[in-house]
Parts: sequence; structure tokens; C-alpha cells
Amino acid sequence: MVTGEAEQTEAFRKEVRDWLIANLPEKWGTPEYVAPERFSQEAQDLGISWTKRLYEAGYTGFNVPKEYGGIERPGWQQAILLEELSRRGTPPGPQSLGQLMVIGTLMGWASEEQKKRFIPKILSGEESWCEGFSEPNAGSDLANVQTTAVRDGDEWVVNGQKCWTSMWKFADWSLLVTKTDPNAPRHRNLTYFIFDTTTPGFSRRPLQQMTGESEFGEMFFDDMRVPHENMIGEEGRGWYVAMTTLAAERSGGGGAAAAAMGLSGYGGLIVRTLGGVDSLIELAKKTKRYGKSLWDDVTFRQRIVQIAIENQASRYYGTRLGIAMRKGTASGNEASIAKNSQAEQRKRQGDMVMEIIGAYSQLMRGDPRAIDGGEQVYNMIRSRGATIEMGTSEINRNIIAERILGLPRA
Ligand SMILES: Cc1cc2nc3c(=O)[nH]c(=O)nc-3n(C[C@H](O)[C@H](O)[C@H](O)COP(=O)(O)OP(=O)(O)OC[C@H]3O[C@@H](n4cnc5c(N)ncnc54)[C@H](O)[C@@H]3O)c2cc1C
Repeated sequence: MVTGEAEQTEAFRKEVRDWLIANLPEKWGTPEYVAPERFSQEAQDLGISWTKRLYEAGYTGFNVPKEYGGIERPGWQQAILLEELSRRGTPPGPQSLGQLMVIGTLMGWASEEQKKRFIPKILSGEESWCEGFSEPNAGSDLANVQTTAVRDGDEWVVNGQKCWTSMWKFADWSLLVTKTDPNAPRHRNLTYFIFDTTTPGFSRRPLQQMTGESEFGEMFFDDMRVPHENMIGEEGRGWYVAMTTLAAERSGGGGAAAAAMGLSGYGGLIVRTLGGVDSLIELAKKTKRYGKSLWDDVTFRQRIVQIAIENQASRYYGTRLGIAMRKGTASGNEASIAKNSQAEQRKRQGDMVMEIIGAYSQLMRGDPRAIDGGEQVYNMIRSRGATIEMGTSEINRNIIAERILGLPRA
């Protein structure tokens, strides 16, 4: 690092820390703070106002071109911002999915009008998005989608069903992969659209997860009409557009086909796990067994340190991937490494927490004796979903084996 860079880095970190102190909700991060119920209207409103604050402060859209509402600031600043947000466990933005995957997809495939219409409202928190990819028989095998779109003049008529749709409840817009040519070969028969969730013929309902919540739901299309202008990319190229979306979300907001986007180029998901290690260490320090803190127990400490090391390795991988994406030298397949490392680490962290808190792992949110208000147990249960969403760990391992290591197809 040349002279001056370290000072600049630390100055920016201080700026962000000061900003967080001044802008986070009152009592945030203290036991007195009462968080809104997850996925409630109140949580959604908090997320929207938080996203707006970040946007107004110039902390959103680091390498999105200014004409689409971005700020074109350097990647190292984005990296520091994400680290600090992660450390404070800031409110989840309702735009997280929009910033994670939609901007990258639009930057790679959308028309000028589509980019100008949609990207600024994702960055500012005005519009929330969800992802209509999976169906009952098209999860890992996404190419098997059965939802159809049939052209009728300037519109497409959509019929079918999507499931496991995260953030389904409050999304204003959704991504949508449909089958448009039943006679075309696999992967060339799909077309990608976006649709407004107030469109007649669209309905949605919750699905309950093992966390007890309905973070995801189902979406139904009954002769829903989507304007032709809402097609993203070309007819029959939906598979390739969908691969950009998946690369963007797996890398934590970096699409290889889209070097310039909101959270791109740093592996935001990986950074998110940093806060997890901090809280693991805190928990070990405050948990006593036989009169001794678990942080003073060498076997626990070694295992936590191992998790912290893996975390750092992922962080550096995320940085490297981010640089490659900005330079346009990443293929997109590397995102599977980023995704699997964060998801599997999150699971290991969750399991470690259970060992630390022992019998208290049976107490969930709502029980006054639950550790950290039940958050730790919630995180452990939710970590299982992380190894399934955005493509399962097995599917990502297949991608790593075949497309990065060059191993023969299983
Ligand atoms: C929390 C959460 C959020 C989600 N959010 C969304 C969302 O917003 N939008 C959306 O469209 N989808 C979403 N999904 C769906 C997710 O993408 C699918 O669940 C996932 O792709 C797996 O598909 P499936 O559930 O149909 O399982 P299946 O594909 O039926 O897989 C079952 C098992 O078989 C294994 N398997 C399948 N094929 C292979 C293979 N070729 N090689 C090795 N093993 C294989 C899988 O790894 C898995 O263990 C979400 C899922 C979760 C858990």
C-alpha cells in the first residue's frame, strides 16, 4: 500500500462509523432496542427508510453510472462501508434483493430506457423486488420451468406458478423466467421478463419456513398480461439472463456480465458473515461454564479462531472476485465459490453457537430467557436455508468442479 492509502482508508472508515452512530435507529444494537417483527409492515418501513438514508448519504450504487442514479465511487470505499454495516448488523434494506441481483441483471441485459426507469428507484429504496425463478419442479433444474408466456400483440399472457419467492409480500416488481417456446431445445426456450405486482391476474400467498416465518411465498399467474417492453434481453435468451442474475446474487451483488452495479464487486454476502464472527467471540466471552468463560477454554477458542480464519479467507476471496468483476475478467462461475463459502460458514457458525449456549439453544424468540433475544437460535435455523437458496451447495459444487476445476461432468 503506498503512503497515504492507509490514512485514506482509515479516514473513510471513521467517516462511516460516525455516520452510523448519527443515523442508526435510537438504541440500535443495545438490549433496549425493540426490533420490529421480521417481514412485518413495520420492518419493511424501517428497511425503506434505512435504504433512503444510505442513498441520500451517497453510500449506495458505488459503481453504478451516474446516469442511472449511481455514485461511481471507488470499490475500496464500498468494501469498507459493507464491513462496517455488517459489524453493526444494520437494518435489512427492502432493496437488498433489488441491489443484490436486479441491478446486475439490468446492467447486463436491459435497454437504456429500462435501466433509467428501474435502477434509480432500486437504489433510492422506492421500489422493492423479488425473484420469480423456482417452481415446484424447477429448483436445481431451473431450465425445467413450466410457467408459460404466450405473445398476444404488444403483450405476453403468463400462466403458471412460482414458489419459494423471497420477499414476496411487499415486492413492487418481480423478475420472471418463463417458457416461451415449447418446441425449442432446453436452455433456448426461456424468456425473461419483469412485472409489476399490481398486474391483474397475479396473486401471492405465504409459505411457512422452519424459522416459523414466511420470508418466502408462492406466486400465481392466471392470464396475467405483461407488456412486451418488459422483456429483458431477447426472446429465447432467458436462460442466459437468469445466469447473470444468479451470478450476481451468489457473489453477493456482482454480476460478471455487469461490472457496473450497486453492490457489485465485493461479495457483500461474504462480508455479512464478518459481523457473525464478532458476535460469536462476544458470546463465547460472556458464556461461563464451570466458572470459566468459554473464550478461555482452549478447545472452544481454537475452533472459533478457525472459523474466523476461514471468514478472512472468504473476505479476501470476495475482494479478489470483486476486482476481477470490475475488470471484466471473471466468468461468473467464481460466484459459486463465494456463495458456498459464505453459506457453509454461516451454518458452521450457527452450529458453534449452539454448542456455546448449550441447553439455551432450545429457547426461541419470545422466551425471556432466550440468549440474545433468540437471535442466535434464529440465525442457526436460518443458516440451513442459506445452503439452499441461490442454488444449493451441491449445485454450486458441481459448477466449481466442472467449470472451474475442469473435472468431468458427474
Ligand atoms: C430461504 C430460501 C429462499 C429462496 N428464495 C428464492 C427466491 O427468492 N426465488 C426463487 O426463485 N427461488 C428461491 N428459493 C428456491 C431455491 O432456489 C431452490 O430451493 C433451490 O434451487 C433448490 O431447488 P429445490 O428446492 O427444488 O430442490 P431440488 O432441486 O429438488 O433438490 C433437492 C436436493 O437434490 C440435490 N440435487 C438436485 N440436483 C442435483 C444435482 N444435479 N447434483 C447434485 N445434487 C443435486 C439438491 O442439492 C438438494 O439437496 C429459495 C429457497 C430458500 C431455501
